Amino acid sequence: MTAHTLFISDLHLAAGHPDSMAAFRRFIAASAPQAEALYILGDLFDYWAGDDDLADDFHRQVVELLRGLSAGGTKVFLMPGNRDLLMGERLAAACGATLLADPTLIQLYGAPTLLSHGDALCTDDLEYQRFRVQVRQPDFQTQFLARPLTERKAYIEQLRAQSEQQKRVKAGAIMDVNEAAVAALLREHHHPRLIHGHTHRPQRHEHQVDGKVCERWVLPDWDSQPGALRYDPSGLGWQGIPPAMDAAFVK
Ligand code: MN
Repeated sequence: MTAHTLFISDLHLAAGHPDSMAAFRRFIAASAPQAEALYILGDLFDYWAGDDDLADDFHRQVVELLRGLSAGGTKVFLMPGNRDLLMGERLAAACGATLLADPTLIQLYGAPTLLSHGDALCTDDLEYQRFRVQVRQPDFQTQFLARPLTERKAYIEQLRAQSEQQKRVKAGAIMDVNEAAVAALLREHHHPRLIHGHTHRPQRHEHQVDGKVCERWVLPDWDSQPGALRYDPSGLGWQGIPPAMDAAFVK
């Protein structure tokens, strides 16, 4: 098996999403152990109210799968997304994973590659960007995490319901990345390749920035299309999740 690295995002794992969890189990059992490294670029969970929610039964199942993977020798990297931005060091340690800042520049078999969740690039959604700035303030997070866990979960569930409602009325275009924001980010990091999720529009794009061509790969969301992006020294490509029919893959 050629040395390779896998990238996933937007699994939105939750007790109420059994299909995504089943796909994740198959992925962790069959595909992920073959990889040298697995990068999870945000929104692993449907929401994350704080690392003190590790005791939750469903969360423990996810953590155990990742811990088994990392114990088997695959390096696991965890980047918070917008839904699970409160993922912290305690969760990462429990998974045997390394927590990543957004964005993070890595050398992928020698090629500079910038990793991001992607929500910071959706600058046309002004309302969302104002919210994003607020929830990323350390004071806001400290105060929020000081509230009882049940209260935090209820608050986030209410926010999620509101956001689902807003998504139905917001124009599709404002929920995609802004080209100028992508170009600015690529310029700032000296024209790397970019891999991100969040927009749920899996695709390979090319951007001309300062006369240089930069690849941008957008990862699929697991509600509609469970899958990973696979990179080996010969290049990048999509990798599906083994089908559920094959009982050998089901743990
Ligand atoms: Mn997201």
